Amino acid sequence: MAIIVQKYGGSSVADTDKIMNVARRVVRTVQEGHQVVVVVSAQGKTTDSLIRQASTISSNPPKRELDMLLATGEQMSIALLAMAIDSLGQPVISLTGAQGGIMTDTQHTKARIREVDGERICSELSKGQVVIVAGFQGISNSNDITTLGRGGSDTTAVAVAAALKAEVCEIYTDVEGVYSADPRIVPDAVKLDVVDYDEMLELASLGAMVLQPRAVEVAAVYGVPIHVRSSFSKERGTMIKEVNLVEREVSVTGVAYDENCAKITLVGIPTDIGALHKVFSSLAAEGVNVDMIVQAGTSTPRADLTFTVTREELSTALSVIGSIQGDDSWRTVCDEDVAKVSIVGAGMMTNPGVAARMFAALSEEDIPVYVVSTSEIKVSCLVPRSRYQDAVKACHGKFELDLGN
Ligand code: ASP
Ligand code: MG
Repeated sequence: MAIIVQKYGGSSVADTDKIMNVARRVVRTVQEGHQVVVVVSAQGKTTDSLIRQASTISSNPPKRELDMLLATGEQMSIALLAMAIDSLGQPVISLTGAQGGIMTDTQHTKARIREVDGERICSELSKGQVVIVAGFQGISNSNDITTLGRGGSDTTAVAVAAALKAEVCEIYTDVEGVYSADPRIVPDAVKLDVVDYDEMLELASLGAMVLQPRAVEVAAVYGVPIHVRSSFSKERGTMIKEVNLVEREVSVTGVAYDENCAKITLVGIPTDIGALHKVFSSLAAEGVNVDMIVQAGTSTPRADLTFTVTREELSTALSVIGSIQGDDSWRTVCDEDVAKVSIVGAGMMTNPGVAARMFAALSEEDIPVYVVSTSEIKVSCLVPRSRYQDAVKACHGKFELDLGN
């Protein structure tokens, strides 16, 4: 009998009716002849309100205690869902992350799963029960409750699916799947049938936040097929799996954006060996994540260096830069009113002229481009924040993504 892992997000279990809806779906899957493991998130905005509650007590609560608190959200929803499934006459048991064998490292609030010990889950399944596992939480090697970072239930589900060699990991959410662009910006964006793991990583980390990026990484490593679909409809959603590139007809799969960026330019920094190393190693030492990097004018002893960071990290980045400048004469300029727009597609590797088409789309709309970066499967442009929605629309239209993949 094939094992199916189903993960239901907070919006899918937000109230009693929705929990009953999930319970019926789970029971139907059992009746279709599958063994079912269910991973659930906390109801609705529970995690947000727990975080808020903690902040009314302390501005800097110990992370271990924060995890102890946040894990209660998922503990509530597993119990309620188990009661709902039981009320339909289906044998069921709920397990916390620790009981379900979700072993993590000790980094509280952003722990990583080290291993899933599937023994308990398997033994409960073999008794003919549905097994519900709390998402987002685990147990560290020092026997403390940990959480996996916001959106971490996705990663729990994929890791459990990998450990049990499940046929598929279904991620149920409040949208129909992964779209060619954010439908709130591009009304004729289409639901994608299939997305490659690498493409999904780019789309996820660039703001199409249907899945925690870590979940996609784990799925890619273990080859777990993910089916992203709506808990409120029977329609098929989007399959995320290894895609044979030879079959690729389209060069671009989707357009993503990221509003959370800020641009820093160091005007006239020395081009001597070691300057770049000094800047970026100092930023790394303070935990600042740098995204796009461009240096130009290297034929002179001085050049302009531009890079982007998240808006939250801008002030830390500026103080790091200030602290290493000493009496050097370069000037620092920053701009928070920027956004990154990217076209993503594994088919780009084998199709020339993709970047040219993107620049054509942007220039036809008079959208300035400040920084460009490329990888094998994406081209990103930093544009004024006030124009990023126009940029997303223009790229979506230029690559005719409304026709689907
Ligand atoms: N409840 C957690 C959160 O809100 C985990 C999840 O939803 O995946 O981030
Ligand atoms: Mg989520």
